Formats: sequence, C-alpha cells, structure tokens
Amino acid sequence: MVDSSPKYIFVTGGVTSSLGKGIISASLAKLLQARGLSVTIQKLDPYINIDPGTLNPYEHGECYVTEDGAETDLDLGHYERFLNVPTSQANNVTTGRIYLSVINKERRGDYLGKTVQIIPHITDEIKYRIKLLGKSKKYDVVITEIGGTVGDIESLPYIEAVRQLRYDLGYQNTLVIHLTLVPYLAASGELKTKPTQHSVKILLENGVQPDILVLRTEHQLPNDVRKKVALFCNVTVDAVIESIDVPTIYDVPMKMKEEGLDVITMKKLALESDLEPDLIAWEAFLKKHKNPKKEIQLALVGKYVELPDAYKSISEAFIHSGAANETKVSVKMIHSEKLEQENIEEVLQGVHGILVAPGFGHRGIEGKIMAVKYARENNIPFLGICLGMQCAVIEFARNVLELQDAHSTEMHRNTPFPVIDIMEQQKGVTDMGGTMRLGAYDCILSPESNAFQTYGTSNISERHRHRYEFNNDYLEKYKNAGMVPSGINPDTNLVEIMEISNHPWFVGVQFHPEYKSTVLNPHPIFRGFVKAMVEYKERQK
Ligand code: GLN
Repeated sequence: MVDSSPKYIFVTGGVTSSLGKGIISASLAKLLQARGLSVTIQKLDPYINIDPGTLNPYEHGECYVTEDGAETDLDLGHYERFLNVPTSQANNVTTGRIYLSVINKERRGDYLGKTVQIIPHITDEIKYRIKLLGKSKKYDVVITEIGGTVGDIESLPYIEAVRQLRYDLGYQNTLVIHLTLVPYLAASGELKTKPTQHSVKILLENGVQPDILVLRTEHQLPNDVRKKVALFCNVTVDAVIESIDVPTIYDVPMKMKEEGLDVITMKKLALESDLEPDLIAWEAFLKKHKNPKKEIQLALVGKYVELPDAYKSISEAFIHSGAANETKVSVKMIHSEKLEQENIEEVLQGVHGILVAPGFGHRGIEGKIMAVKYARENNIPFLGICLGMQCAVIEFARNVLELQDAHSTEMHRNTPFPVIDIMEQQKGVTDMGGTMRLGAYDCILSPESNAFQTYGTSNISERHRHRYEFNNDYLEKYKNAGMVPSGINPDTNLVEIMEISNHPWFVGVQFHPEYKSTVLNPHPIFRGFVKAMVEYKERQK
C-alpha cells in the first residue's frame, strides 16, 4: 500500500502515429519499477468503439485480454510484458467508453438539468478515469499514454483534461512527456527538428508545456540539434531524450537509461530513490535473447498473417521462451486460406513446430485443419490456441474418429457431429461486444499429462476469449482414441486442454497462454513447446 498520492505522467505523441509511445511508456515504467517504485500504465484511446473487442485485427492488431476480462489495446500487452504486473479494465479507456458513461449519467438525470458538454462533462469523465488508478493507493506513479497524435480533433478533450489535471494536482505532481519524430533528409544529410517544434506548438496552443521531449530518430542527435530543440521548445537540454532505432523493443529500457530518462523524470517529479535501477534479470534475458545457441523454425498458421501485430502476444511469447531455451525461434507466417490451395508438404517442409492461431469465422478454417493433420501424422510438435485447439478437435474427429463432416457449429451450424459447440450461456447472446467468455478461469491439470509436466503444478489459471467449447458428449470417444482432456475447469467441467498421448508434443489449449507470457516469466506452455521443437530438430539429425 502506497501512502502518498501518486505522481502522474502523461505521454503524448506528435508528428506521426506509430512512434512507439507504448514502448517508451513501458520502458520508463520499467526503469522506475527497477528503482523500487510501483508503477502502472494506462492507455486512453481516442476512438468511439467502447473497446477494441469488436475490431477486426486488420484494423487495430491483436485484441489483448486482461485478468478481469477486459478486451483491450495491444499496448497493455507491452505494459504487462515489461512490468510483469497485471493490468485491468481501468488501464484502457476509449472515447466510446467515456461518452457512454456520460450519456448514461445524462439519462439517469445525474446532471440535474444542466446542458451536457465536452467541457466540463467529457473532460471531467476523462480526469476521473485517469485518477481512478491513482485512488487505488497501489502506485507511486501512474503513467497515462494518450493515444493518437496531438492536433487530431479527437485528441483535443484528452489534452484539455491533461491541462486541467496539471492545475488540479499541482505541477510538481504531474509531468508531460512528448514523443516526436526527427526525420533525416538523406539528400542533404540533415536531421530536421521543425516537425518537433510545430508539434510542441500545437501542445502549447492547447495550454500544455511538455517537460520532456523524446525524439525518435534513425541517426544520433548531435548536441547542437538537442540544444536547438531545447531552445525552441522551452525545455532544458537534459530533458531532450534521443530514442534511436534499436534491434529489439526490449533494448529500449536500456537506451532510455543511457539517456537518463528515469533520472530527469525523478528530478522533475521530486521522486526519491537511492537505488540504481536493478535490471540484472532484464539484462540476463537480453543476453540470452541475443546469443542463442540453437535455432528452430516455427510455422504460425493463421489468417491475419499479413499484419504481424495481429499475433503480437504470440510472437513476443516466443521471444521470451526462446531466450529461456537459448534458442532463436524463427517464425514463418503461413496464410491458412492460401494453404488450402497449396502443397502442404512443400510449405511445411523443414519446420520444427506448427502453431495454429486463434481466430473467428469460416475463412481459412480448412487450411488450419490441414496443418493440424500434418502435425499429428508427422509427429511434429503442435500447439493449437483457442480456435487452433478447436481445429485440432475437429481434425481428430474427422480423420481418427471417422466422424465425417464433424465441425464447430460456429462454421457449420447443422454439422452432423458438432464436436465444438456454442456454450450454453452464449446461446441467448445477441450483443457482440464484451459478451464472450472473457478473462481468467481456473483449470485443473491431470497428473500424467504433458500439460502437467510443462506447468509443474496441477492448479492453473488462464485467460479466455471465446464463445464455443469442446462438446463433452464426445469426450469418451476422444479418450478411447488417444486424445485426452488434460485440463478441465473445476466449476463448469469445460475442457480447457486436449492433448494426444502417443505424440511427442501435441497440445491444444482453449485459453490464450500468450497473454500471460512476460520477459521475466516466459509462459510454461511456450517454454515447453520450444523445448519440444528443439528436441524434434535434434531427432531429425
Ligand atoms: N471463434 C472461436 C470461439 O469463439 C475461437 C475464438 C478464439 O480463437 N479466440 O470459440
């Protein structure tokens, strides 16, 4: 429990989107945490959807799910992976959610006949959401990342809320870090600071003076460039931080430490810590990550493969578990829809493991089922996640149990063998947003399973995001043929893990282990899968 009120740091972005505010926020948080402070990070997203749960992954990348079942922005995944501390619904708020609560209050009559306006009602709601995390008394520092780019119409209420909060909470208790881009003009060999100056001007027009500027750049910033930015943007020169491109996002905390981002932040907020940041475990991870002793190739079969962000947490989980195994995991992205027309042997030849990804809907489903069959028949280590596990169940029904046309009722409502079926509680659901089986549920593992060996314990809890489930009417048939339920929900009897006993490593999980994998705690399922792939490669020699 933290006694004093927290300090609030706001991270804004200018010049362009996608500069990596999430990684900078997570890196600063990591450095402060490594000095013994408790830190949380919140993302405010200026779009009208209530949450990203209903967004197509092509629009917004992966939808990340928290312990409490919130469907959130993928930046929350970075926050958890860096800090090793769970986030919650309060850590991600969209304009849609802000407006929804204001409109609900208006309908209830809470505003007592007043005209409801952006200022003060929307800005008050934003301020309330920012302060909510601080009120929990769990944190010394709350970092709020404002999505979007300053100057966008939709960001305006957020910037105004920041301006007011600085006044309300005191300038010594709040800090604004502005992230911009310093482009390099190859023709003249120059780094240009004008876009940064303009972007700071936009903040100033809105009454916000940034305290620290983090400049994304492809080239080192010479001192005169730093001085120029400091002079024209009213910040001290030590508050101009270079963020040069680095090989991996996990290098960013080290870079920010070199640049003194944590030191200047602590100075400006009068935060006390005698400690030097303890990054020993982080550095050990980086060392292993950069010096792998082995290399394996994984096939990731999914239908959103054109956009790598759609499988962000999965890719990161392989980085964590690869380092734990001192192994480089090269990921070959395979489009499940195209696989249906291709020669599967040619495409999957030489891979040491196959992962069938989560997903929704019919498109590409047969390609996924073909990939499962290939893994099962060729004894290739296999991991199926959510829809991937459901595909493994369907494949086994069709090709081992000889239940022709077996399917999930999601894809084929009238299948003669609905081995995957809609959950009872889902049958009456008509709204699509926030209504899946979401968040953490307990699961008990059976003693002799691969899953038990992998986790080293029998009581686990994992995060979910689905409407369909294994149909227990078929359970005996599966068990008798060698596909066994190795993880069961103790309260509902839902099958959470299926594995094939006489296969070296064939595991399908109804939950999403990737959401819980962090740098310092690589997930057991991914660790076990990478180990199985390494062993498979050894056997091929
Ligand atoms: N579409 C499947 C379901 O709703 C799987 C979901 C997923 O892979 N996240 O059950």
